[in-house]
Amino acid sequence: MSLLPITLFGDKILRKKTSKVTKVDNETIELIRDMFATLRNANGIGLAANQVGADKQIFVVDISGVEGFEESKPMTIINPKIVERSEKKNKMEEGCLSIPDVRAEIERPEEITLTYQDVDLKEHTIKTSDVLSRVIQHEYDHLQGILFTDYLSEEEKKELKKDLENIKKRKMEVDYPVSEAAH
Ligand code: ZN
Repeated sequence: MSLLPITLFGDKILRKKTSKVTKVDNETIELIRDMFATLRNANGIGLAANQVGADKQIFVVDISGVEGFEESKPMTIINPKIVERSEKKNKMEEGCLSIPDVRAEIERPEEITLTYQDVDLKEHTIKTSDVLSRVIQHEYDHLQGILFTDYLSEEEKKELKKDLENIKKRKMEVDYPVSEAAH
């Protein structure tokens, strides 16, 4: 098992729509294992494959560290599709391991219905709400090349510009391995 460097804001792979997984081979199993290790090491609750440089429709979620959700089981989500979004929306503060130290209130649908495949490529459909729904929508966006900061107003984006530029130049501190700055 190894820790993988996390890609940061400005890395091109974070803006790419990831590719569908058609086969879960040993390499994929190892990737998923490493993604969980990387997620836990960074104290995160969700991590998408392109956040560790892999062009695959996979994300992992573990919200058992969140108060009130200690019983939640870790999930590996492959080839997800959000098939339904509730009209009712709510606001929650979000952060992202690829955008260190930036947090913002984001409005999203409160509940979603998701279809996905597990590591055996078996199909599942789940309806989620609350924190799990929020994390899944955030990670799902990653696989489409979307970041939570994309939802901010122009004014809010302007305020964050300096922080985001600093992240691109790696002029920030994190206590987990990250990708090298693009040249
Ligand atoms: Zn993220």
